Amino acid sequence: MDFSLSPEQQRFRDDLRGWLHENLGDFAPSGRAQSAETAAPLETIGRRAQVEIERGRAWQRRLFEGGYAGISWPREFGGRGGSIIEEMIFNQELAEAKTPPLINVIGLYMAGPTIIAHGTDAQKSRYLAPLLRCDEIWCQGFSEPNSGSDLASLQTRAVRDGDRYVINGQKVWTSLAHVAKWCILLTRTGGEKYGGLTYFIVDMESPGVEVKPLRQITGDAEFNEMFFTDVRVPAENILGSEGEGWRVAMTTLMHERASLGVGLQVRSRIALEELRTLARATMEDGRSRAADPLVRQRLAQLFIECEAMRFNGYRGLTRMLRGEQPGPEGSINKLMWSEVNQRIADAAMEVMGPAAMLSPDDPDSPGEGRWSYLLLRSRANSIEGGTSEVLRNILAERVLGLPRSR
Ligand SMILES: Cc1cc2nc3c(=O)[nH]c(=O)nc-3n(C[C@H](O)[C@H](O)[C@H](O)COP(=O)(O)OP(=O)(O)OC[C@H]3O[C@@H](n4cnc5c(N)ncnc54)[C@H](O)[C@@H]3O)c2cc1C
Repeated sequence: MDFSLSPEQQRFRDDLRGWLHENLGDFAPSGRAQSAETAAPLETIGRRAQVEIERGRAWQRRLFEGGYAGISWPREFGGRGGSIIEEMIFNQELAEAKTPPLINVIGLYMAGPTIIAHGTDAQKSRYLAPLLRCDEIWCQGFSEPNSGSDLASLQTRAVRDGDRYVINGQKVWTSLAHVAKWCILLTRTGGEKYGGLTYFIVDMESPGVEVKPLRQITGDAEFNEMFFTDVRVPAENILGSEGEGWRVAMTTLMHERASLGVGLQVRSRIALEELRTLARATMEDGRSRAADPLVRQRLAQLFIECEAMRFNGYRGLTRMLRGEQPGPEGSINKLMWSEVNQRIADAAMEVMGPAAMLSPDDPDSPGEGRWSYLLLRSRANSIEGGTSEVLRNILAERVLGLPRSR
């Protein structure tokens, strides 16, 4: 792969940098990962999160108005019509500038591309523009209490009744369900494990949809339980056709894995740079922690791992630029990213020493509590988007050609 940017790609990057310089002002990072109220009641957390949601919405709208939402989406659907290299540059520049996260991430990287691939013309014209403008937030209702890694065993049932389907069941870990207008919902309409699944677009304001927040170890409540009781959904809200849900869901998951691969390794590299700054600034017995040979070795090892992720990401990109399907590189990078992120947080704790125990709102807490937040939040990285055990199985079977695990 040629690592240099073409003149056109450089122009895209420079224009984006200029635009970010002019537009990021009100959205610049506050320096605090989260407030200290980890033991606050859920309603308080909900209200605080609401402020972040509204800020995220406003940021995505600003990006849309600047022509920077849906970088690689076709122009006919309101996107920029760019290449996946431009999408990569976009993700890198946003990470470097420490912009707020893209709040409608499930819409932009999962629901939207699935609608583009499988939707009817009516679905494309109804859903895509409000998604890009962030007028409507999306969530993903795949996982259930007894179906996560083995997704196709799910039991939420949809039964046809005239021109509607009646949906009953429970989903869990549904990120953003508390603010979403639409849900991409995978249901069972038949007995066959894979052939009995159907994929719906469900209005979260429908009668019978109940959302209950789940509080995480960080104190945030990013995700929810969802209960469906006799929820009536028009047949025209099926994405694909009845019984085709598995194939449509694979499009969603393929895009999830590919988007994780493009954006996340940059965020790990930035976290590592911040860790290096922390090590330099932290003093112990009059010496910088960065002078400790053990700390230096750990930082060097993490740097090597971040570089390996970067080049592995390029391998995946090269494959996609050749028009091939995303390969196992996405699984390698998801596995590496989650573990490297956890190792960066562990290393930060060691660098900080006893100061790591200070509460995030303590004025002496290094990084205003962001490291203890990362330590707690990164525990979820090896579960969300495919667990590390399952990814190792995929790599063992599909890359190394080892016998199937079961
Ligand atoms: C922060 C976060 C956000 C999430 N957001 C969403 C969302 O928006 N929408 C959504 O649908 N889901 C979401 N999820 C759910 C996520 O996709 C599932 O948690 C994940 O797929 C694992 O499923 P599970 O929790 O049911 O665990 P299980 O599949 O029950 O796994 C339990 C344990 O068994 C191991 N295991 C399972 N099968 C095997 C095997 N074959 N070989 C070896 N080990 C195995 C797993 O690695 C794990 O350690 C989210 C999860 C997190 C943590």
